[in-house]
Amino acid sequence: MKIAVYPGTFDPITNGHLDIIKRGLTIFDKIIVTIALNSSKKPLFSAEERMDMIRCSTVGMDNIEVASFRGLIAPWVKTQNAHTIIRGLRAISDFEYEFQMALMNRKINESIDTIFLMPNARYTFLNSTIIREMGRLQGDVAQFVPSCVVERLKEKFPD
Ligand code: ADP
Repeated sequence: MKIAVYPGTFDPITNGHLDIIKRGLTIFDKIIVTIALNSSKKPLFSAEERMDMIRCSTVGMDNIEVASFRGLIAPWVKTQNAHTIIRGLRAISDFEYEFQMALMNRKINESIDTIFLMPNARYTFLNSTIIREMGRLQGDVAQFVPSCVVERLKEKFPD
């Protein structure tokens, strides 16, 4: 069974993340979407809320598991019997950081490879930061995030 891990902050999950997950499922038998609990970022949504949003966004998709991890991703990947990390690449600007992380993860665990998937071009401008900002300013995010995320944003930022 080919298992891949897709780590991130997912604050919140967007259609860009989902595009990467769907592409990943054509390559892997199972994808574990996992939230970094002690990243240096200060998330808007709690870990539980973010995991719930991943779950509701992937209803009907088989072979998706939602998890969270503390500390470094490389040792955690090993505990899941996986050898592959999936990351999304939107633009050249993502590349330097991702390249550095991939090589550091390999240093920590020689058996891990990171694969990069490119989303559909219509999602390349999308990130969670801009979605949170749109939500805060009462913008319409329906075309950028799954419907259950639209609802969660409305609850976070009531009129
Ligand atoms: P992180 O804090 O680790 O960057 P994110 O949740 O922002 O976590 O992103 C997780 C992964 O998904 C990263 O590899 C990021 O490049 C990728 N990603 C984020 N948004 C998109 C998008 N719109 N299209 C494709 N990949 C994306």
